[in-house]
Amino acid sequence: MKRSWRFFPALWTAKLTTAVLRLFHRNATHLPGLVALKLCPTFLGDIGKPKTIIAVTGTNGKTTVCNLLDDILPDCGVQPLNNRTGSNVNGGILTTFLNAATLTGRVKEEMAVIEVDERSALFVFKYMQPDYLIVTNLFRDSFKRNAHSEFISDILNQAIPKKTKLIVNADDLIGSRLAPNNDRITFGIAHREGDWEVRQNIVCDMVACPYCNTVLEYDFVRYNHIGRAHCPKCDFASPSVHYEIIAVDEEAAKLTVRTPRGEEQYRMIGDNITDWYNTLAAVTMLRVLGFDEQTIEQSLQKQQIVKSRFERIDIGDKAITMLLAKGQNPIACSRAFDYIRRTEGKKAVILLIEDYYDAKHTSENVAWLYDADFEFLNDPSVEQIVIAGVRAADFRVRLLLAGVDDSRIVCMREEVATADAVDFERVDNAFVLFDVYTTMFADATRERLENRLNGQNEEVSQ
Ligand SMILES: [Zn+2]
Repeated sequence: MKRSWRFFPALWTAKLTTAVLRLFHRNATHLPGLVALKLCPTFLGDIGKPKTIIAVTGTNGKTTVCNLLDDILPDCGVQPLNNRTGSNVNGGILTTFLNAATLTGRVKEEMAVIEVDERSALFVFKYMQPDYLIVTNLFRDSFKRNAHSEFISDILNQAIPKKTKLIVNADDLIGSRLAPNNDRITFGIAHREGDWEVRQNIVCDMVACPYCNTVLEYDFVRYNHIGRAHCPKCDFASPSVHYEIIAVDEEAAKLTVRTPRGEEQYRMIGDNITDWYNTLAAVTMLRVLGFDEQTIEQSLQKQQIVKSRFERIDIGDKAITMLLAKGQNPIACSRAFDYIRRTEGKKAVILLIEDYYDAKHTSENVAWLYDADFEFLNDPSVEQIVIAGVRAADFRVRLLLAGVDDSRIVCMREEVATADAVDFERVDNAFVLFDVYTTMFADATRERLENRLNGQNEEVSQ
C-alpha cells in the first residue's frame, strides 16, 4: 500500500496525544483523530483497515443497530472494531482506527462496524469505503444540523462508493432510493393492524412520484413517510422486500421473518415498531454476511434495548416510563407521542426535551415544534402535560394550537419540580420525555416520582 510520508509521524504523534490525554484523565475519543488528520490529511485512507467494513447511517436508530451488531457478532465468532465509545463524526471515527492500529499502522480485527453521521459520509467514505452500508431511515432532523431529508440524500448520493452494497429499509421511500445503481438488500415490515390508510402526521416528505410528479397513493402509512406507496400513473412503487417481518407474536415476543431462504423466527426486542425495524436491520445484515439463523436467535435472547432509551418502573399499580426522544427531532418526538397515546391507562406527560446544549450557544430554533405531532397528545387518555424550562411557554403555545385544553397543561420554570405536579389520583402512568442533554433533569425527576409513589405505598400499607 502506498502511503503518504506524513502517515507514520501522524500516527505516532496522535498515539502520543492519546497517551498524554489519558495520563491526565481527559477524554481521548475525538482529539487524537483530529491531530492525525491535521498532520496527515489522508490518514483515514492510509491506516490499516479490517477486511470487511460495515457502515451504519440514517436519521434514527443507527446507534441501536450498531450496538446490536457489536453485541451479536462476538457470538458469531467475530470481534468487530467499532466506534461505540467514541463519536460518529470525523474525529471519532479517525480515533477509532487510530486506537485499533499498531505502531506499524495495522489493525488485527477482521470486521468493523462503524456508525457514521450522515453529514460525515462525504469525508469518511472517501477514505473508508464500506463493503456494506445500512441506512436505517432518512427523515427530517434538527434544522440546524440536517436541514432536510433531501439535503442529506444528496450528501449520501455523492458519498456512497459504487462498490458498496446497501442494506435499506423498503418501507422508507427516501432511504431505499439512495445510490440507485448500487446493489441492495431491503428489509421491511408487512402491513399490520394499526397502520393508517391516510397519513396522520403533519410531515410527510414523500408525497409525489419522483419520476412523474403525480401524487403517490399510499397502500398504508405507518408513520410520516414510512409505509408502502405506488404511483397511479407510472410504474414507480415501493421496492420489493427481501427480509420482511410478516407476523408479530407479542405474547411470545417473536418476530416471523420471510427471507430468501424461507421463514425464520427471531426474538422481539422492545415493543415499539422502531425497535423491530432496528432488530430487523441487524438480522438482515447478519444473514447477508452468512451467519446462521440459530446463532443469531440465541444471541438475540441475551440482548436488550439500552435502558437509557426506554425504561418502565412499576410501583404498586402506578408506573413511571422514561422515554428518550431527541430534541429538535420532530419524527422521534412524534413517535414518542404516538407511543404514549397508544399505551393503556390514564397518563401524565412530562416534557423535558428542550435542547439545552444548543441554547448555551444560541437560542434554540423552535420551528421544529411545528413539524412534531403534538396533536397526538390531544387524547382523552392524556390527563396532564407538564412542561418546564426556558422554552416552556413555546411548548404551551404549540400544545394549545394542537387543541389541548389549557386545564391539562401545567407550565413551570424549574424542571425537577415537574415531578410534584403529576396528579397520581388522576393518572396511572407518568411519562418522562427527555433529551440526551437533559438526562440530569430526567434522572432527578424520576427519583422524585419514585419517592412520591413509594411514600404513597407506605401510607396505604400502614
Ligand atoms: Zn409516477
